Amino acid sequence: MNGPNEKIIAITGASSGIGAATARELAARGATVLLGARRTDRLDELVAGIRADGGRAEALAVDVTRRADLQRLVDRAVEGHGRLDVLVSNAGIARVAPMTDLDVDDWEAMIDVNLRGVLHGISAALPLFRRQGRGHFVTTASTSGLKIVPTQAVYAGVKNAVRTTMEALRQESTDGSVRTTTISPGYVRTELVDHVEDPVRRAQYRQNMAELGIGPDAVARAIAFAVEQPDDVEIGDIVLRPTRQD
Ligand code: NDP
Repeated sequence: MNGPNEKIIAITGASSGIGAATARELAARGATVLLGARRTDRLDELVAGIRADGGRAEALAVDVTRRADLQRLVDRAVEGHGRLDVLVSNAGIARVAPMTDLDVDDWEAMIDVNLRGVLHGISAALPLFRRQGRGHFVTTASTSGLKIVPTQAVYAGVKNAVRTTMEALRQESTDGSVRTTTISPGYVRTELVDHVEDPVRRAQYRQNMAELGIGPDAVARAIAFAVEQPDDVEIGDIVLRPTRQD
């Protein structure tokens, strides 16, 4: 059986932030990483950097709102490496705003990327994991789902939907074939809030990130910890915040 550091690991949302840091961390520990996102130029740069450091990485254009893209990512792992050990469903967007703004398109986009994207990953990899008799879903939720604050209603709701989905999948997988891990980070310094439309709110979030945020490498190390456990040990939930976050 392949050792903890020789796993074949697919990561969505790998073109920046937590996903990119996780790719670097896992590759440095000996995993082969298959990286998916829409910005393939960023993925290509990341792959080149990992390879220059002696690691193994490949890039694939993946839009997680498209079910077929997740299937291609999983199929690529099997075609190239004979198996997939871990799927890190990390792609996400945060379009934070009060409900009264009625940004319905943004609500739907968060459901499409943050929830449907995760479900697409499960539907693509679960049959394979069952066939293999082993496999590991790692999914990025958020502390937003644990401490509810104004402007994050849909984002937090969707992240909690992901958490409960993973818990149900865990309970359905006690035959030992599938492990699930939900990572819930607090403020992490990434590009996540750069996409918030309202400039005042964007500036506020950026300030929070700059003042409080931890580096994405901290989340990457937590993911590596979960991934490197032996098959009979499942790290179900990891919550990590900046120490000063309330
Ligand atoms: P970034 O904005 O840096 O990264 C988001 C990633 O998601 C990018 O690689 C982006 O790639 C990808 N992505 C977005 N939409 C899609 C899509 N439709 N298909 C495929 N990939 C997509 O932010 P983070 O690193 O912070 O975010 C990673 C995860 O962490 C998210 O799920 C986020 O909700 C979660 N999180 C972040 C926190 C933080 O404080 N930063 C706190 C808690 C949770 P591309 O645009 O190239 O497709």
